[in-house]
Amino acid sequence: MLQDDEKKYIINTYNRQREMTPLLVKGEGTRVWDENGREYLDFVGGLAVNALGHCFPPVIEAARRQMETVIHASNLYYTEPQIGLAQALVENSPAGKVFFSNSGAEANEAAIKLARKYGKLQFGEERFEIITALNSFHGRTLATVTATGQTKFHRGFEPLIPGFKYARFNDADSFRSQVNPHTCAVMVEPVQGEGGVHVATKEFLQELRQLCHEENLLLIFDEVQCGMGRTGKLFAFEHYNVIPDIFTLAKALGGGLPIGAMLCSEEVSRGFSPGDHASTFGGNPVACAAALAVVRSLLEEGFLDLVEQKSAFLISGLERLQKLFPALIREIRGKGLILGVETGGEAREIQRLCQEKGLLINCIGETILRLLPPLNVAESELNAALKILETALQERAVK
Ligand SMILES: *Cc1c(COP(=O)(O)O)cnc(C)c1O
Repeated sequence: MLQDDEKKYIINTYNRQREMTPLLVKGEGTRVWDENGREYLDFVGGLAVNALGHCFPPVIEAARRQMETVIHASNLYYTEPQIGLAQALVENSPAGKVFFSNSGAEANEAAIKLARKYGKLQFGEERFEIITALNSFHGRTLATVTATGQTKFHRGFEPLIPGFKYARFNDADSFRSQVNPHTCAVMVEPVQGEGGVHVATKEFLQELRQLCHEENLLLIFDEVQCGMGRTGKLFAFEHYNVIPDIFTLAKALGGGLPIGAMLCSEEVSRGFSPGDHASTFGGNPVACAAALAVVRSLLEEGFLDLVEQKSAFLISGLERLQKLFPALIREIRGKGLILGVETGGEAREIQRLCQEKGLLINCIGETILRLLPPLNVAESELNAALKILETALQERAVK
């Protein structure tokens, strides 16, 4: 059995359980199939990666065509998709420049390095500290895991990287109280994803912007999960009327291929000089060609408005279930199509029951269910998912 080989050969960091974990062999749109031909509605979406569903034809076509021309060239040379993607991202955002990486953690790593370099160049060697939010998630490299404001991700990896301070999410005064002569930046997710789907308030992000202006700090938004249309706007910060100095993207950017991006203002981009930062695979032409197809699809007339409609539809369905099962659905949070359901300790069991009935949903800890359907999910698929969730809640309620 392939699953036995997984146990034998792969380091157990994901704790996949043979009896519980499907082996997926095919995907199409919102659906995936396991090795036994069982069909599932996929509301995990590769953890917010498959924003256009599985095997989205324009992404396949763009990647295939690039595969047949130049798969990789290195950043010693120009390639068309990299420049095309850079132009599309910069011209459709407030940013002036971009750096490409392979993942979210690396995009954040680039943001951290740029913030330090810019801080030191502008204000002296002593400027290097970054304030991040408690309950945040910024990645698993040593710097980004340190930036992550959750001790459970730190344990066993100490000493952590110096130069990070933590403050309470949605509490600008808490951030203000951590500012000191070493501070160079503030970094937050506009919607905390791994932390349990917590949405920043408008006042919070606007006050952080103000704080950064007053204290000459860079404002960094980690949009690795909430960016690329997930909240119903291309970037989550568009809901807030706040423009960051630096923001990062990854997950949904490549339509399933690994790519990350760190974007910043023209002014801040001057913090990096030739040789300061690099990535062998960063800006790989196949990943960039796929990402360009994603950006174009998200920007098609009316596409993001539909995300808002689908979000309203899904939220109202969840609210109906909350009325039926108030003990099992305590709270519904989120924006667009990143939604969190606070279950009161039953999340894993509900997740298991849903999977049994053909719906994949993600579970954060013991209490939170996270729904991340593709942005082009059909209303009939939202209905089918709600139906399955209702049956699962029903079964759980009578236990
Ligand atoms: C997933 C995630 C990351 C890390 O991305 P990787 O591609 O796994 O390195 C960073 N920040 C946020 C907000 C994320 O959701």
